Formats: sequence, C-alpha cells, structure tokens
Amino acid sequence: MVRLVVLRLGHRPERDKRVTTHVGLVARAFGASGIVLGDVKDEKVVEKLRKTCEMWGRRDFLVLDGVNSIEYVRKWKELGGVVVHLTMYGLHIDDVIDEIRSLNRDILIIVGATKVPRVYYELADYNVAVGHQPHSEVAALAVFLDRFYEGKELRFIYSDAKIIVEPCTRGKRVVIRE
Ligand code: SAM
Repeated sequence: MVRLVVLRLGHRPERDKRVTTHVGLVARAFGASGIVLGDVKDEKVVEKLRKTCEMWGRRDFLVLDGVNSIEYVRKWKELGGVVVHLTMYGLHIDDVIDEIRSLNRDILIIVGATKVPRVYYELADYNVAVGHQPHSEVAALAVFLDRFYEGKELRFIYSDAKIIVEPCTRGKRVVIRE
C-alpha cells in the first residue's frame, strides 16, 4: 500500500497551532499515513493529533516534530519516494493526479504556512496547484487527498477506533468500543 506523508513547512507555534492541527487532522481523516512538522517543535500540536488517533483510530499514524525538512525531503527521494509540493503556481491538479497515482510510489506532500523557499520548488517532483488562486493549506491538502483516493477515503473505517459515529438523520449517535 502506498504511503502518503505530509511535510508541514513554516509552522509558527505562536500563531499556527490551529491551522497546523487541522492540516494533521485532514491528513489523518483523509487517508494519509502521517504528518511531519519541519524544523520546529510543537508539543501541543503533536499531543492533540496523538489524542485524536487514540480515540478515533489510526494509532499507527506518524506524528513527528522538529524534523530537518531539507534532509527529510532528500532522504525521501533517496528511498525512492515522490515529492509533491502543493502551490498555486504549480501544474493544475487535474492534469497530473492520474500520473502521480499511477506511479504507485510513496508520496511526500509538502504544504507551507508562509512563503515556501525556492529550494522546495526545485526538489519537488511535482508542483501541484489546487486551482491557481491563493487559499489554504488545509483546503489544498483535502482536495489533493480526495482526488488521489477518488473520494473513497471518506468511507475508510479505522479498525482501532474507540469511538465510531453512526450516521443518523438528526442528532448524534456514536458507538463506544473498549
Ligand atoms: N504566501 C505564501 C506563498 O507565497 O507561498 C502562501 C501561503 S498559503 C496560506 C499556505 C499554503 O497553502 C501554501 O504554501 C500551499 O501549500 C497551500 N496553498 C494555498 N493555495 C493553494 C493552491 N491554490 N494550490 C495548492 N496549494 C495551495
């Protein structure tokens, strides 16, 4: 099974906690295998994501902080993985997503917070635009994963979940498993 891991660049602990946590939540819920925070540590974000995995499943979901981003990208490529950088300046997602999927190789998905240094545009095998308007790393990641999995990820079931939602027309219904 192909692994998709998100590399979050430029996280600023004093102002990006919520957005970076949401990048991690989307990565987990939409079928990626992990999130790595580049070049900075943030125990709060790591703790929130690990707690979510503990309750809602996917205890194998990788959550790392303080990783050297450039080294991580280079190592990923050395090991045969593909690097996708999400940027509005890249190629339109619909023009490359089938090719990326068909490679059948592990994918590192880079998303920024502030201006992404040029070196990542060079290191990426694909610079991919989710439309060519500026929006959000959370939205860009969600759309990329949804296109990659062709919508199937919304029905993924996580077998180690302690809480499972039972769909209902009104209100909230959950099953607690211990
Ligand atoms: N000002 C920053 C720049 O010039 O690179 C962009 C900041 S944007 C809020 C944060 C991240 O969202 C970007 O680094 C990119 O990963 C993602 N993003 C925003 N719009 C995008 C788009 N249209 N397509 C793909 N990714 C996008």
